[in-house]
Amino acid sequence: MSVTHDPQSYWQATAPAPVFPIDLPSTANIVVVGGGFFGAATTYFLARAGAAPLLIEQAAPAYGATGRNGGFHVVGTAEGYADAIARLGRDTARAMMQITLDSRALLRQTLAEEQIACDYREPGHLTLALGEEQYVDLQRHIAALRADGFAAELLDRQQTQALIRTPLSEEITGALYGPENALLHSARLVYGLIAAAQRHGARVAMARAAHVVPHNGHVRVITNYGVVEAGAAVVTVNAWTRDLVPALRDVITPVRGQALAYAPISRVFEQGIGASATPTGEYWHQTPDGSIVIGGCRAHAPGRDVGVTEPVPTPEVMAAIEQILPRLFPQIGNLNVMRRWAGLMAFTADYAPVADAAPEMPGVWVAGGFCGHGMPFGMRFGQLLAEAALTGVAPVALAPFRVARPTLQPPQHQQ
Ligand SMILES: Cc1cc2nc3c(=O)[nH]c(=O)nc-3n(C[C@H](O)[C@H](O)[C@H](O)COP(=O)(O)OP(=O)(O)OC[C@H]3O[C@@H](n4cnc5c(N)ncnc54)[C@H](O)[C@@H]3O)c2cc1C
Repeated sequence: MSVTHDPQSYWQATAPAPVFPIDLPSTANIVVVGGGFFGAATTYFLARAGAAPLLIEQAAPAYGATGRNGGFHVVGTAEGYADAIARLGRDTARAMMQITLDSRALLRQTLAEEQIACDYREPGHLTLALGEEQYVDLQRHIAALRADGFAAELLDRQQTQALIRTPLSEEITGALYGPENALLHSARLVYGLIAAAQRHGARVAMARAAHVVPHNGHVRVITNYGVVEAGAAVVTVNAWTRDLVPALRDVITPVRGQALAYAPISRVFEQGIGASATPTGEYWHQTPDGSIVIGGCRAHAPGRDVGVTEPVPTPEVMAAIEQILPRLFPQIGNLNVMRRWAGLMAFTADYAPVADAAPEMPGVWVAGGFCGHGMPFGMRFGQLLAEAALTGVAPVALAPFRVARPTLQPPQHQQ
């Protein structure tokens, strides 16, 4: 397999990024650093509040994880809900779940209000069980979700088969069905949000922040194209967080994720699908044009790609991903790989993100560490980070995501 340097994802290739001007103003009320989903959402809500923010991005909007992901918007915690309760406590897990539901409501509303076309649809999500043990485990998560009033259904093998238009392999025993989960074109979402923010008064510029420095009650953002003096800054660079917020170096760890797209075939999958055919899991869905985007299999990479910062796919992980669909759906037929890529996720020790005041950096707010599961938090975090930057006070709703929480103590990273 030939690997080109930093190849474009399916999303980046099917929706060319808008070009930001290299026209950096010297002052701004609030600077948002990083043009992924979280930077775009924060900029949008700041602009809606009349704050005329400045968004800066080092490469291109949706250059990072948002433009290279699986395109899933699945509410809830990164871990299965029962495991999240065990690790974080029931109140925190429930608050995280609720934030993702609120975020989905905000997303629906914003897409409608701003007329953002990003293939958003809610066909639901299937988490497949492979073998009896996984089937029993899904029942544990469903019981925990239902006990807290959240929607989840257990499907047996026959009910699962009824949703997938190709015969299942014997190892598929059933699925957890999340009815309102969504799929979307993540890059188009980012471009649409940024364009909406600009309509509401935001400015954008191409620049790489080298340092974000509190200075005399202001924040100085030092970039490769000059310095911006701002009242406050919001750093939404996820896998790059440690470059700008040194205190989070051991809290947010970059982890490479890899994916590929198969050429269009006739419709087999309506829902987004997750499975654990390997210990680090897989996910796939079929896009409106019939392509299949599939990723995962990190367990096949040396060190599970933890700490790796080159966004390039590797032969061993690509080969493992290519075995997943033929293994689980033996009659799926010929699949032709059209595109391979990688992106940088960011993990924390307790599989929950950080969104808080940046430690030892007055006037600076930071969000990151989404553990490969950021999309369901994006809109609500953007709204809350905008509020934080405008008021100087962390909103109560961000309490589960504070840096100084007991479950987030280094050193152990358990990815
Ligand atoms: C392969 C893969 C599959 C995934 N699948 C899913 C999925 O299906 N569903 C889901 O919920 N989550 C998924 N995730 C995770 C999800 O994509 C992320 O949690 C989310 O996109 C993070 O958004 P972000 O805006 O914080 O970061 P990013 O999208 O990474 O954006 C950060 C931006 O900051 C810019 N930047 C970095 N440093 C600087 C600097 N110094 N100055 C200026 N700009 C800078 C980068 O260029 C980048 O554009 C996946 C991730 C990967 C890699």
